[in-house]
Amino acid sequence: MAGGYKILTFAGGDEVNARALLLSTGVSYRRLNAPGAGPFTGAGIYYGAALSEAASVAGEDIHIVGGANSAGQAAVFFAAHARTVTLLVRGASLEDAMSQYVVERIHATGNITVAVRREVAGVDGTDRLQSITIRDLATGGEQTVPATAMFVFIGAAPLTDWLDGVLVRDDHGFVLAGPDLAAGGKLPASWPLDRAPYHLESSVPGVFVAGDVRAQSAKRVASAVGEGAMAVMLVHRYLEVL
Ligand SMILES: Cc1cc2nc3c(=O)[nH]c(=O)nc-3n(C[C@H](O)[C@H](O)[C@H](O)COP(=O)(O)OP(=O)(O)OC[C@H]3O[C@@H](n4cnc5c(N)ncnc54)[C@H](O)[C@@H]3O)c2cc1C
Repeated sequence: MAGGYKILTFAGGDEVNARALLLSTGVSYRRLNAPGAGPFTGAGIYYGAALSEAASVAGEDIHIVGGANSAGQAAVFFAAHARTVTLLVRGASLEDAMSQYVVERIHATGNITVAVRREVAGVDGTDRLQSITIRDLATGGEQTVPATAMFVFIGAAPLTDWLDGVLVRDDHGFVLAGPDLAAGGKLPASWPLDRAPYHLESSVPGVFVAGDVRAQSAKRVASAVGEGAMAVMLVHRYLEVL
Protein backbone atom coordinates (compact mmCIF):
# COMPACT_ATOMS: atom_id res chain seq x y z
CA MET A 1 0.00 0.00 0.00
CA ALA A 2 1.15 3.54 -0.69
CA GLY A 3 -0.67 6.85 -0.25
CA GLY A 4 -4.09 5.22 0.04
CA TYR A 5 -3.44 3.08 -3.03
CA LYS A 6 -3.28 -0.67 -3.02
CA ILE A 7 -0.57 -2.09 -5.27
CA LEU A 8 -1.18 -5.42 -7.00
CA THR A 9 1.86 -7.12 -8.47
CA PHE A 10 1.28 -9.75 -11.17
CA ALA A 11 3.42 -12.83 -11.71
CA GLY A 12 5.07 -11.16 -14.70
CA GLY A 13 6.11 -8.17 -12.59
CA ASP A 14 3.49 -5.68 -13.85
CA GLU A 15 1.78 -3.57 -11.21
CA VAL A 16 -1.70 -2.08 -10.90
CA ASN A 17 -2.52 0.64 -8.39
CA ALA A 18 -6.07 1.08 -7.16
CA ARG A 19 -7.90 2.79 -4.34
CA ALA A 20 -10.26 -0.17 -3.92
CA LEU A 21 -9.93 -3.87 -4.74
CA LEU A 22 -12.39 -6.73 -4.99
CA LEU A 23 -11.03 -10.26 -4.51
CA SER A 24 -13.14 -13.09 -5.91
CA THR A 25 -10.57 -15.80 -6.52
CA GLY A 26 -12.79 -18.73 -5.53
CA VAL A 27 -11.58 -22.07 -4.21
CA SER A 28 -9.93 -25.08 -5.70
CA TYR A 29 -12.06 -28.25 -5.17
CA ARG A 30 -10.40 -31.62 -5.01
CA ARG A 31 -12.02 -33.78 -7.69
CA LEU A 32 -13.02 -37.40 -7.41
CA ASN A 33 -10.29 -39.47 -8.99
CA ALA A 34 -12.58 -42.25 -10.23
CA PRO A 35 -12.61 -43.43 -13.86
CA GLY A 36 -15.54 -41.96 -15.79
CA ALA A 37 -16.52 -39.41 -13.13
CA GLY A 38 -15.76 -36.23 -15.09
CA PRO A 39 -18.78 -36.14 -17.46
CA PHE A 40 -21.25 -36.67 -14.61
CA THR A 41 -20.24 -33.53 -12.75
CA GLY A 42 -23.53 -31.69 -12.31
CA ALA A 43 -25.45 -34.71 -13.68
CA GLY A 44 -25.49 -36.87 -10.60
CA ILE A 45 -22.09 -36.02 -9.11
CA TYR A 46 -21.98 -32.80 -7.14
CA TYR A 47 -19.12 -31.03 -5.37
CA GLY A 48 -19.39 -28.89 -2.29
CA ALA A 49 -22.36 -27.99 -0.16
CA ALA A 50 -25.46 -28.40 -2.26
CA LEU A 51 -28.18 -27.87 0.30
CA SER A 52 -30.40 -26.41 -2.40
CA GLU A 53 -30.47 -29.87 -4.02
CA ALA A 54 -32.35 -31.37 -1.06
CA ALA A 55 -35.70 -31.43 -2.88
CA SER A 56 -34.18 -33.26 -5.85
CA VAL A 57 -33.10 -36.22 -3.68
CA ALA A 58 -36.48 -36.73 -1.98
CA GLY A 59 -37.10 -40.48 -1.68
CA GLU A 60 -33.79 -41.39 -3.39
CA ASP A 61 -30.92 -43.60 -2.22
CA ILE A 62 -27.90 -41.31 -2.31
CA HIS A 63 -24.17 -41.53 -1.60
CA ILE A 64 -21.89 -39.02 0.06
CA VAL A 65 -18.13 -39.28 -0.31
CA GLY A 66 -15.87 -37.92 2.42
CA GLY A 67 -14.91 -38.44 6.03
CA ALA A 68 -14.67 -34.96 7.51
CA ASN A 69 -17.23 -32.59 9.01
CA SER A 70 -18.60 -31.22 5.75
CA ALA A 71 -19.43 -34.75 4.53
CA GLY A 72 -20.93 -35.68 7.89
CA GLN A 73 -23.07 -32.57 8.10
CA ALA A 74 -24.26 -33.12 4.54
CA ALA A 75 -25.18 -36.73 5.40
CA VAL A 76 -27.33 -35.59 8.30
CA PHE A 77 -28.92 -32.86 6.20
CA PHE A 78 -29.72 -35.08 3.23
CA ALA A 79 -31.01 -37.87 5.48
CA ALA A 80 -34.04 -35.68 6.19
CA HIS A 81 -34.92 -35.75 2.49
CA ALA A 82 -33.46 -38.86 0.86
CA ARG A 83 -34.70 -42.40 1.52
CA THR A 84 -31.23 -43.61 2.47
CA VAL A 85 -27.81 -42.00 2.69
CA THR A 86 -24.62 -44.05 2.40
CA LEU A 87 -21.51 -42.29 3.61
CA LEU A 88 -18.36 -43.62 1.91
CA VAL A 89 -15.27 -43.01 4.04
CA ARG A 90 -11.70 -43.97 3.09
CA GLY A 91 -10.48 -44.04 6.71
CA ALA A 92 -11.04 -46.80 9.23
CA SER A 93 -13.36 -44.78 11.43
CA LEU A 94 -15.49 -41.66 11.38
CA GLU A 95 -13.74 -40.35 14.46
CA ASP A 96 -10.47 -39.96 12.51
CA ALA A 97 -11.51 -36.66 10.95
CA MET A 98 -15.00 -35.79 12.14
CA SER A 99 -16.13 -33.90 15.25
CA GLN A 100 -17.73 -36.08 17.88
CA TYR A 101 -21.04 -34.20 17.79
CA VAL A 102 -21.36 -34.84 14.05
CA VAL A 103 -20.49 -38.52 14.54
CA GLU A 104 -23.18 -38.79 17.20
CA ARG A 105 -25.78 -37.19 14.96
CA ILE A 106 -24.90 -39.64 12.19
CA HIS A 107 -25.26 -42.63 14.49
CA ALA A 108 -28.58 -41.28 15.74
CA THR A 109 -29.98 -40.97 12.21
CA GLY A 110 -31.61 -44.24 11.20
CA ASN A 111 -31.35 -43.95 7.42
CA ILE A 112 -27.60 -43.20 7.27
CA THR A 113 -25.25 -46.12 6.62
CA VAL A 114 -21.55 -45.55 7.24
CA ALA A 115 -19.21 -47.58 5.03
CA VAL A 116 -15.61 -47.17 6.17
CA ARG A 117 -12.49 -48.14 4.22
CA ARG A 118 -14.36 -47.61 0.96
CA GLU A 119 -13.55 -45.64 -2.17
CA VAL A 120 -15.34 -45.01 -5.44
CA ALA A 121 -13.64 -47.23 -8.03
CA GLY A 122 -15.77 -46.19 -11.01
CA VAL A 123 -19.02 -44.62 -12.14
CA ASP A 124 -21.39 -45.33 -15.01
CA GLY A 125 -24.50 -43.93 -16.65
CA THR A 126 -25.82 -42.43 -19.86
CA ASP A 127 -26.64 -38.72 -19.74
CA ARG A 128 -26.84 -38.95 -15.94
CA LEU A 129 -25.17 -40.98 -13.25
CA GLN A 130 -26.80 -44.40 -12.88
CA SER A 131 -24.39 -46.55 -10.90
CA ILE A 132 -21.20 -46.44 -8.91
CA THR A 133 -18.65 -49.12 -8.17
CA ILE A 134 -17.43 -49.13 -4.60
CA ARG A 135 -14.12 -50.71 -3.63
CA ASP A 136 -13.63 -52.22 -0.18
CA LEU A 137 -10.09 -51.13 0.73
CA ALA A 138 -9.75 -53.90 3.32
CA THR A 139 -10.50 -56.79 0.94
CA GLY A 140 -10.04 -55.23 -2.50
CA GLY A 141 -13.52 -56.45 -3.44
CA GLU A 142 -15.77 -54.28 -5.60
CA GLN A 143 -19.54 -53.86 -5.72
CA THR A 144 -21.59 -51.94 -8.27
CA VAL A 145 -24.76 -50.34 -6.94
CA PRO A 146 -27.46 -48.14 -8.51
CA ALA A 147 -26.91 -44.44 -7.75
CA THR A 148 -28.70 -41.33 -8.92
CA ALA A 149 -26.86 -38.77 -6.82
CA MET A 150 -23.43 -38.66 -5.22
CA PHE A 151 -22.21 -35.64 -3.26
CA VAL A 152 -18.47 -35.29 -2.93
CA PHE A 153 -16.84 -33.54 0.05
CA ILE A 154 -13.16 -34.38 -0.20
CA GLY A 155 -11.70 -30.95 0.32
CA ALA A 156 -11.64 -27.44 -1.06
CA ALA A 157 -8.97 -24.85 -0.50
CA PRO A 158 -8.79 -21.15 -1.34
CA LEU A 159 -5.60 -20.21 -3.14
CA THR A 160 -4.72 -17.31 -0.87
CA ASP A 161 -1.14 -17.95 0.23
CA TRP A 162 -0.14 -14.82 -1.64
CA LEU A 163 -2.24 -12.82 0.85
CA ASP A 164 -0.29 -14.10 3.85
CA GLY A 165 0.53 -11.19 6.16
CA VAL A 166 -1.67 -8.84 4.10
CA LEU A 167 -5.25 -9.82 4.94
CA VAL A 168 -6.65 -11.64 7.96
CA ARG A 169 -7.68 -15.18 6.96
CA ASP A 170 -9.16 -18.08 8.89
CA ASP A 171 -7.30 -21.32 9.68
CA HIS A 172 -8.16 -22.71 6.24
CA GLY A 173 -7.05 -19.64 4.32
CA PHE A 174 -10.48 -18.12 3.64
CA VAL A 175 -10.51 -14.32 3.86
CA LEU A 176 -12.42 -12.85 6.80
CA ALA A 177 -14.66 -9.90 6.05
CA GLY A 178 -17.23 -7.62 7.73
CA PRO A 179 -18.71 -8.92 10.98
CA ASP A 180 -16.57 -12.10 10.83
CA LEU A 181 -13.50 -9.95 11.47
CA ALA A 182 -14.84 -9.17 14.92
CA ALA A 183 -16.06 -12.67 15.70
CA GLY A 184 -14.34 -12.61 19.12
CA GLY A 185 -15.92 -9.22 19.90
CA LYS A 186 -12.83 -7.29 18.84
CA LEU A 187 -11.59 -6.09 15.45
CA PRO A 188 -8.02 -7.04 14.48
CA ALA A 189 -5.49 -4.65 16.02
CA SER A 190 -4.39 -3.68 12.52
CA TRP A 191 -7.82 -2.22 11.59
CA PRO A 192 -7.02 1.50 11.30
CA LEU A 193 -10.43 3.22 11.11
CA ASP A 194 -13.03 4.34 13.68
CA ARG A 195 -15.84 2.75 11.69
CA ALA A 196 -16.38 -1.02 11.57
CA PRO A 197 -15.53 -2.81 8.30
CA TYR A 198 -18.34 -2.79 5.74
CA HIS A 199 -20.08 -6.11 5.23
CA LEU A 200 -17.70 -7.56 2.58
CA GLU A 201 -14.67 -5.49 3.51
CA SER A 202 -11.52 -7.34 4.55
CA SER A 203 -9.10 -6.38 7.32
CA VAL A 204 -7.63 -3.75 4.97
CA PRO A 205 -10.04 -0.84 4.30
CA GLY A 206 -11.00 -0.69 0.64
CA VAL A 207 -10.14 -4.33 -0.08
CA PHE A 208 -13.39 -6.25 -0.52
CA VAL A 209 -13.98 -9.97 -0.90
CA ALA A 210 -16.84 -11.83 -2.57
CA GLY A 211 -17.75 -15.41 -3.36
CA ASP A 212 -16.19 -18.71 -2.36
CA VAL A 213 -12.91 -17.20 -1.14
CA ARG A 214 -14.73 -15.34 1.63
CA ALA A 215 -14.85 -17.14 4.99
CA GLN A 216 -18.36 -18.43 5.79
CA SER A 217 -19.61 -17.94 2.23
CA ALA A 218 -22.33 -20.21 0.84
CA LYS A 219 -20.20 -21.75 -1.95
CA ARG A 220 -22.99 -21.35 -4.50
CA VAL A 221 -23.13 -19.44 -7.78
CA ALA A 222 -26.09 -17.25 -6.81
CA SER A 223 -24.41 -16.20 -3.55
CA ALA A 224 -21.12 -15.39 -5.28
CA VAL A 225 -22.87 -13.30 -7.92
CA GLY A 226 -24.97 -11.52 -5.29
CA GLU A 227 -21.92 -10.76 -3.18
CA GLY A 228 -20.11 -9.42 -6.23
CA ALA A 229 -22.97 -7.00 -6.91
CA MET A 230 -23.14 -5.98 -3.27
CA ALA A 231 -19.37 -5.45 -3.13
CA VAL A 232 -19.55 -3.01 -6.03
CA MET A 233 -22.05 -0.93 -4.06
CA LEU A 234 -19.74 -1.04 -1.03
CA VAL A 235 -16.75 -0.01 -3.15
CA HIS A 236 -18.73 3.10 -4.20
CA ARG A 237 -19.55 3.82 -0.56
CA TYR A 238 -15.88 3.45 0.37
CA LEU A 239 -14.73 5.78 -2.42
CA GLU A 240 -17.35 8.42 -1.56
CA VAL A 241 -16.08 8.93 1.97
CA LEU A 242 -12.34 8.66 1.28
C1 LIG B 1 -17.56 -29.08 -9.91
C2 LIG B 1 -18.36 -27.99 -9.27
C3 LIG B 1 -19.74 -27.99 -9.41
C4 LIG B 1 -20.51 -26.97 -8.82
N1 LIG B 1 -21.87 -26.99 -8.98
C5 LIG B 1 -22.60 -25.97 -8.51
C6 LIG B 1 -24.00 -25.93 -8.74
O1 LIG B 1 -24.57 -26.83 -9.35
N2 LIG B 1 -24.69 -24.86 -8.27
C7 LIG B 1 -24.08 -23.84 -7.58
O2 LIG B 1 -24.75 -22.88 -7.20
N3 LIG B 1 -22.74 -23.87 -7.34
C8 LIG B 1 -21.98 -24.90 -7.79
N4 LIG B 1 -20.65 -24.94 -7.55
C9 LIG B 1 -20.05 -23.85 -6.76
C10 LIG B 1 -19.84 -22.60 -7.66
O3 LIG B 1 -19.11 -22.96 -8.83
C11 LIG B 1 -19.08 -21.56 -6.86
O4 LIG B 1 -19.80 -21.27 -5.66
C12 LIG B 1 -18.92 -20.26 -7.65
O5 LIG B 1 -18.31 -20.50 -8.90
C13 LIG B 1 -18.07 -19.28 -6.84
O6 LIG B 1 -17.79 -18.15 -7.62
P1 LIG B 1 -16.49 -17.30 -7.35
O7 LIG B 1 -16.56 -16.15 -8.29
O8 LIG B 1 -16.36 -17.03 -5.90
O9 LIG B 1 -15.26 -18.25 -7.71
P2 LIG B 1 -14.88 -19.01 -9.10
O10 LIG B 1 -16.09 -19.22 -9.96
O11 LIG B 1 -14.10 -20.21 -8.66
O12 LIG B 1 -13.96 -17.99 -9.82
C14 LIG B 1 -12.68 -17.64 -9.33
C15 LIG B 1 -11.81 -17.17 -10.48
O13 LIG B 1 -10.65 -16.52 -9.97
C16 LIG B 1 -9.51 -17.00 -10.67
N5 LIG B 1 -8.35 -16.86 -9.79
C17 LIG B 1 -8.02 -17.59 -8.70
N6 LIG B 1 -6.89 -17.13 -8.14
C18 LIG B 1 -6.49 -16.07 -8.89
C19 LIG B 1 -5.40 -15.15 -8.80
N7 LIG B 1 -4.48 -15.21 -7.86
N8 LIG B 1 -5.31 -14.19 -9.77
C20 LIG B 1 -6.23 -14.09 -10.74
N9 LIG B 1 -7.30 -14.92 -10.86
C21 LIG B 1 -7.42 -15.89 -9.94
C22 LIG B 1 -9.84 -18.46 -10.97
O14 LIG B 1 -9.06 -18.94 -12.02
C23 LIG B 1 -11.31 -18.33 -11.35
O15 LIG B 1 -11.46 -17.97 -12.70
C24 LIG B 1 -19.87 -25.93 -8.11
C25 LIG B 1 -18.46 -25.94 -7.98
C26 LIG B 1 -17.72 -26.96 -8.54
C27 LIG B 1 -16.22 -26.96 -8.40
